[in-house]
Amino acid sequence: MDCIFCKIVEGSIPSKKVFENEHVVAFHDIYPAAPVHILIIPKKHIASMNDVGADDWHLLGEIHSAAQQIAKEQGVAESGYRLINNCGKHSGQEVFHIHYHLLGGEKLGPLNA
Ligand code: 5GP
Ligand code: ZN
Repeated sequence: MDCIFCKIVEGSIPSKKVFENEHVVAFHDIYPAAPVHILIIPKKHIASMNDVGADDWHLLGEIHSAAQQIAKEQGVAESGYRLINNCGKHSGQEVFHIHYHLLGGEKLGPLNA
């Protein structure tokens, strides 16, 4: 399958990883939109939130657990951060391997900007 994030999971294309366990990998976004911009993904290929299956919900818990740890390690737990999932065309989702953006390190703009 031609999925860039699956290739990052496999290690066949490079990434700056900050977290990895049995289910989840997290790495720096290649075009950071904030001083801290980490992408958190399941190792399993799931295209989007629309495709999360009945047996997959625990993976979203794993992602949130990783996000909590990464926010501490990146020094943004206290100052605050945003965790964003884009799903589908109207959201601007570009990579169809489900992922959460962890954004922080500065005061983020309002969602309706
Ligand atoms: P989306 O718009 O799908 O929610 O976000 C996809 C994100 O993946 C974008 O922020 C983009 O900068 C990032 N991205 C796309 N290709 C790569 C890549 O090859 N490596 C890394 N680290 N990030 C990528
Ligand atoms: Zn994939």
